[in-house]
Amino acid sequence: PEIIEHLRVEHELSNVSFTTWIQPLKVYEIIDNTVFILVNMNASVEYIEKKYLLPLKVCISEVTGIDYEVVFVSEDDSRISEIRSMSADASHKKKTRTASEKAGLNPKYTFDTFVVGGNNNFAHAASLAVAESPGEVYNPLFLYGDVGLGKTHLMHSIAHFILNKNPKKKVLYVTSETFTNELIEALKKGKTADNESAMAQFRDKYRNNDVLLIDDIQFIIGKESTQEEFFHTFNHLHTSAKQIIISSDKPPKDIETLEARLRTRFEWGLIADISAPDYETRMAILRRKIELDHLDRYNIPEDVLTYIAENIKSNIRELEGSLNKLIALYKLNNPETIDIPLAAEALKDIISSYNNRVVTPELILDIVSDHFNITIADLKGNKRSASISVPRQICMYLMRTLTETPLQAIGIILGGKDHSTIKYGVEKIEKEMAKDETLHNTISIIMKKINPA
Ligand code: ADP
Ligand code: MG
Repeated sequence: PEIIEHLRVEHELSNVSFTTWIQPLKVYEIIDNTVFILVNMNASVEYIEKKYLLPLKVCISEVTGIDYEVVFVSEDDSRISEIRSMSADASHKKKTRTASEKAGLNPKYTFDTFVVGGNNNFAHAASLAVAESPGEVYNPLFLYGDVGLGKTHLMHSIAHFILNKNPKKKVLYVTSETFTNELIEALKKGKTADNESAMAQFRDKYRNNDVLLIDDIQFIIGKESTQEEFFHTFNHLHTSAKQIIISSDKPPKDIETLEARLRTRFEWGLIADISAPDYETRMAILRRKIELDHLDRYNIPEDVLTYIAENIKSNIRELEGSLNKLIALYKLNNPETIDIPLAAEALKDIISSYNNRVVTPELILDIVSDHFNITIADLKGNKRSASISVPRQICMYLMRTLTETPLQAIGIILGGKDHSTIKYGVEKIEKEMAKDETLHNTISIIMKKINPA
């Protein structure tokens, strides 16, 4: 559905051709890198192919980030049975493919898509060495650097690399928030029901690994019980030569609330920092993103890229964000060309929201969307599933407590909601936080992201 919507918007199909040709199409099978699409009407496959094959291919790759081949088939096609048997073959192969999916890894974060520059070549080389011989070279590997500079990307790359080489390896990637929240849950369950088993399960999950990656360790800090548990997890893995990879915004010595015994352990292996990219690297990252996201068709002029690279210096996520914003503005206003004034317009929001460090509702939207990995459109929308409605209510709560924005205005920002909806959301989060320690933990982490002390 997302792809179809994308196709409609992107290619400005008329409603008629959309409902007659595109909407009835169904994905029949996806095998390896081919999407088979079923044309289940009287329409000729040839016609659809001629008209929509290319746009559909582009849309699929834009939405999924994967370059699929697209093949149209009709119901009476002789190829149908062929596809069935191919699909049976593929389904057992799939088990290996899902190894990295199961590990919760972002398919886009691989060594292939990581641009190496002077700011990150040491961290990159160390990560690659660890990925090639986990547990054997640097243990732990401690990566640190400011937000948006590629720590998470590198960690996922290591995990992908190891799983690709050997899908049987047990690789666990989590944020320190997940570690903390799961520990809280296990302790809570332990108090009620069969007390040992919840903790035993927790320990098994974290200790029974070949590779454990803990992202943003700075958020564990300040909680004694979590540090204690992590200390034991660490020792257990380290003594059995299992690889540990940790990321943080600061080197161990500068993390004030970190217990000394953990600090020394973090310094046992290798510490690698990632700093802000220089101009050449920023240009290379922009070019790579244009290539990966198929943005070449917009023919963004060289001077516009230079302009972006010159103005966004300290955060790669912002660098990517400005390119996205530029394309969005271009589509919205449909100007003749993409030029510097348009880029200036795109950069305006990005530069002001982050660099002034004033907490605005927009900054909150950005950070919450990033934290839960959901879109801003969903935060502003009306979907009711908990995975979206809770983050949305968290936005309401944060906008209310961290900014002076009135309820009514928050409602407008969140896609035109009633002020009573906002009031209800704020109060609900307040109430839940008081009794739900994991929600409390999550919100305090988001607050730290909004306001890094
Ligand atoms: P961090 O975890 O340090 O906050 P991320 O790893 O989330 O940063 O990176 C932010 C964004 O920038 C991601 O979309 C990531 O893919 C991209 N990025 C960071 N470094 C690079 C790089 N060297 N090459 C390509 N993309 C990068
Ligand atoms: Mg990160």
